[in-house]
Amino acid sequence: MKVVESIGEMVALSDAFRREGSRIGLVPTMGYLHEGHLSLVRESVARGAVTVVSNFVNPVQFGANEDFSTYPRDFERDCRLCREAGVAIVFSPSPESMYAADRSVLVEERALANGLCGASRPGHFAGVCTVVAKLFNIVRPDLAVFGQKDAQQLAVIRRMVRDLDFQVEIIGAPIVREADGLAMSSRNVYLSDAERVQALGLNRVLAFAAGQVRDGQRDAGRLREAMADFLAGGYPGVEVDYIAIVDGATLLPQAAVTGGTLLALAARVGRTRLIDNLTLEPGTGNL
Ligand code: AMP
Repeated sequence: MKVVESIGEMVALSDAFRREGSRIGLVPTMGYLHEGHLSLVRESVARGAVTVVSNFVNPVQFGANEDFSTYPRDFERDCRLCREAGVAIVFSPSPESMYAADRSVLVEERALANGLCGASRPGHFAGVCTVVAKLFNIVRPDLAVFGQKDAQQLAVIRRMVRDLDFQVEIIGAPIVREADGLAMSSRNVYLSDAERVQALGLNRVLAFAAGQVRDGQRDAGRLREAMADFLAGGYPGVEVDYIAIVDGATLLPQAAVTGGTLLALAARVGRTRLIDNLTLEPGTGNL
């Protein structure tokens, strides 16, 4: 496995892989890797792709009052995990090499990026689209794997790829959870023991909602109310940002739950912002 910091070297290595007929898979990450990230790597490797993991804490997607400077980092460990998972290249450019001081172009998705997390994180998805577009241009992957954990991000990236004709297959991979159900996240490390208990509320309220739907609840407004009550009653440390019941592809609000409905929520637990979601699908026991 090679660790590459230079954009030029990454371009040259990708060109060489392509010339020898290899398919290239890209897994964009901000590092501090956990099993969720590694599941994306495995997906790429399983598809026979020479796999590039980008490890870049992207300053452009953080708001002024967000956790860019304190975002957890452990590059040595990340590299070891990547090597063990069969990664070919860890691409870890410096912020200075990625962003010219006088940069003046942003990639902005204007329909899906405004609601949900976009409402409380203005500019976040433009930062995400910009860095992912740059990574696509540098690595020129045949496929790229993203986690369903960030369901809105996945939908926004799919839209960007469609609208800008990026020649890359986007693969969505399922959410990987801790044994007790908490969705894995690099930010979980911020949680105190007491907050960790409260954080379970995000997964629990999704399970509760799935139960309500199984019992026949189809009204989105009532379901959202029941979810808010469930959290307020059982998890007072969970400060809800949003509970959304939307179409999984368009992210438009739905009045009634159907197949393909996405239940998504974001909340603060202490100072940590957490997200989780569940897609209701016929035949999976949750619809
Ligand atoms: P991040 O490093 O948080 O930017 O995440 C990089 C990629 O890993 C994104 O595509 C995320 O959706 C994905 N990811 C993060 N956590 C999980 C998880 N628990 N399960 C599956 N994918 C995840």
